[in-house]
Amino acid sequence: MNVFDRPGCKVRLGRISADPPKGMTREKAEKRFAILGQELFDLQDAMFGAKVTSVLVVLQGRDGAGKDGSIKHVVGCLNPRGVSVASFGVPTPEERAHDFLWRVHRHAPRLGEFSIFNRSHYEDVLVVRVHGLAPKSIWKERYGHIRDFEELLAEHGTVVLKYFLHITRKEQEERLLEREESAETAWKLNPNDWKERDHWDEYTEAYEDAISKTAAGHAPWTVVPANAKWYRNLVIAESIAAALRGRRKDWEKTLEAMGRSGRAGLDAYRARVAEAKAGAK
Ligand code: AMP
Ligand code: MG
Repeated sequence: MNVFDRPGCKVRLGRISADPPKGMTREKAEKRFAILGQELFDLQDAMFGAKVTSVLVVLQGRDGAGKDGSIKHVVGCLNPRGVSVASFGVPTPEERAHDFLWRVHRHAPRLGEFSIFNRSHYEDVLVVRVHGLAPKSIWKERYGHIRDFEELLAEHGTVVLKYFLHITRKEQEERLLEREESAETAWKLNPNDWKERDHWDEYTEAYEDAISKTAAGHAPWTVVPANAKWYRNLVIAESIAAALRGRRKDWEKTLEAMGRSGRAGLDAYRARVAEAKAGAK
């Protein structure tokens, strides 16, 4: 797996395959994905009740990399009661009037819940850097702000999981052209996607830097081979399940303690009612 969890680690996207590994088939992936979907649902249920942990899933990637598709499939496994999805586009004047983390922080998950970010605070060191929307003196300080922000979330019980959906230039072209073919996807057409393609290498560099500078044990990056949608979905689901599985026992212990205390409260209530009834006779 292409997991980066040490600050300053070397990231070379060109050396990471965007295709599924040899031997992996769509059939195998879909079978495993169905099992993981059930596991994620159960994990979420325990986490929701225990309310000591939350999860932030950050989805980043170029246009057409599959951010929407990942949300549809992976988030589709979860109970909507405990999930919110936030998409971050070009900042509004209100957002621009604040610091870059302001619009993001208010979408951080409550304990017990999932937040999924479709783009994120990382845009402020990606598109902003590539297009010079802010001077270097501003955006270069943001890596540190991001590290501190994610550390703060982690201290509050948030499991921060960051995914770069890795596609090849050729795959992107095919996907963008495909969008034109069908009425269901044509609504996404945006000439800007083609303009951004001209900055492919600059984005690669910006992503490599962002991943390297913000990789941490409590907020790892996974580079997801995303040329095949079915494999992409599997990698994300597998990664989220792996990050949460080890906490399940703790959540169940918390749930048991909550159950015991709830029962004790109910017993005490019933005893009081019985006493009052006996007293009234
Ligand atoms: P989409 O994800 O297709 O809805 O496009 C959203 C657009 O908003 C992308 O082109 C992003 O690069 C852009 N965007 C997101 N965040 C920022 C930001 N902080 N500054 C400028 N552009 C942004
Ligand atoms: Mg787009």
